[in-house]
Amino acid sequence: MVDLKLNHSVQNGSGFMLIPLDHEEFRRQGHMMIDFLADYYQNIEIYPFHSQVEPDYLPARSNGSIANFLGEMLCTGFNTVGFNWIASPAATELESIVMDWLAKMLKLPSSFHFSGGGGGVIHASTCEAFLCTLTAIREKKLSVIGRENLDKLVVYCSDQTHFSLKKSVQIAGISPENFRPIVTTKSDSFQLCPESLRLAIILDLEAGLVPLYLCCTVGTTSSTAVDPLGPLCDVAKEYGIWVHVDAAYAGGACICPEFRHFLDGVEGANSFSFNAHKWFLTTLDCCCLWVKDPSALTNALSTNPEILNNKATESKQVVDYKDWQMALSRRFRALKLWLVLCSYGITRLRDFVQGHVKLAKHSEWLLAGDKKLGSPSVIPNDEDFNEFNRNLLESINASGGARMVYAVVGGVYVIWLAVGATFFEYRHVNKAFKLVQDHANALLCTYWKH
Ligand SMILES: *Cc1c(COP(=O)(O)O)cnc(C)c1O
Repeated sequence: MVDLKLNHSVQNGSGFMLIPLDHEEFRRQGHMMIDFLADYYQNIEIYPFHSQVEPDYLPARSNGSIANFLGEMLCTGFNTVGFNWIASPAATELESIVMDWLAKMLKLPSSFHFSGGGGGVIHASTCEAFLCTLTAIREKKLSVIGRENLDKLVVYCSDQTHFSLKKSVQIAGISPENFRPIVTTKSDSFQLCPESLRLAIILDLEAGLVPLYLCCTVGTTSSTAVDPLGPLCDVAKEYGIWVHVDAAYAGGACICPEFRHFLDGVEGANSFSFNAHKWFLTTLDCCCLWVKDPSALTNALSTNPEILNNKATESKQVVDYKDWQMALSRRFRALKLWLVLCSYGITRLRDFVQGHVKLAKHSEWLLAGDKKLGSPSVIPNDEDFNEFNRNLLESINASGGARMVYAVVGGVYVIWLAVGATFFEYRHVNKAFKLVQDHANALLCTYWKH
């Protein structure tokens, strides 16, 4: 990187003038930057998993791909600011096309496709998708019951729902007291139980509150639980509740026929989202959101200032994506998704997911083969199992050999091994497992000594 000359300038009569986009310098430095990144990925295994600075952070080396990086370069290179259709018809049209392709790959019902009256949009994050759909139904509901009733609106989810829903609820102005994470249990595999939902709704109605929004999850963060979409949507429908399905990381896997059943029942939902930037060879930021009724979004999120007046918008024949999201300006993110889909195609994308699932099964098999690791009885009776796991995780991460995180599920402290990054192979799983074994055995020795 020593030759990068980012303040490239030329001499003119009155001194030096900065040339921020000299095409030859752009070419030269652009090539160098690609070399630098290629070297980084070639040598990625020599870099520590752990940040060497405090406070610690979680280096999420998620799954990039060549197609994605090139798409990202085009997106930045063109620097399109496509707030409405007229600002960049190509950016809007490509996004609509790519979202319909993806909807087809996921076998979403046609009511989510543009051709079926619905449509898709790329947001930066799931949090944004939550917020925009919440705002859509909030506005619709308040226009019926009166704005003074904002404090009566209730949002439902399970205690396994991602915490970003709570954040969106806060931003949307819903009363924190009306945020209802419903308790799940291990015996229900941490799925949200439709009867528990109904009970919560009935209690709220009796208290004079207004049920508004339900978030169901396909693949919860802590335990990969999948909520029963069909029965939950049936309950929600009875009470006029908007159902959003959050499949942030697991959604991409549903392009595989053997995993598509996890989305069964999605036809009863109002909106669905997944993050292509998690397990779909695309990098941040790329959350794909589909809605059945785009007018619910646009009614709540449109502002049409004089300055943006144009014939295309007036014709009502075009999509103005500024009205489908929070911000006005937007990047040409469809380029990276388009390149990923065109470069790899559905077959190789399926292979990619299936390969990771095999790795996950392999780690499960390794764990099942170790009688000690699977049983709480290996630690002395008076010791706390959760405490043991906490110490184990600390010891694993301190070694620098891997980076794992934890969740507390049903009161049990569990350690995750996430298998989903581009470079993950069998040898990494084996190495990670050996690391867990070694550190668990070392820790057990200290436990039994005193
Ligand atoms: C990662 C994740 C989120 C949050 O996604 P952001 O794009 O970071 O807002 C929400 N839900 C689930 C299930 C997730 O895995």
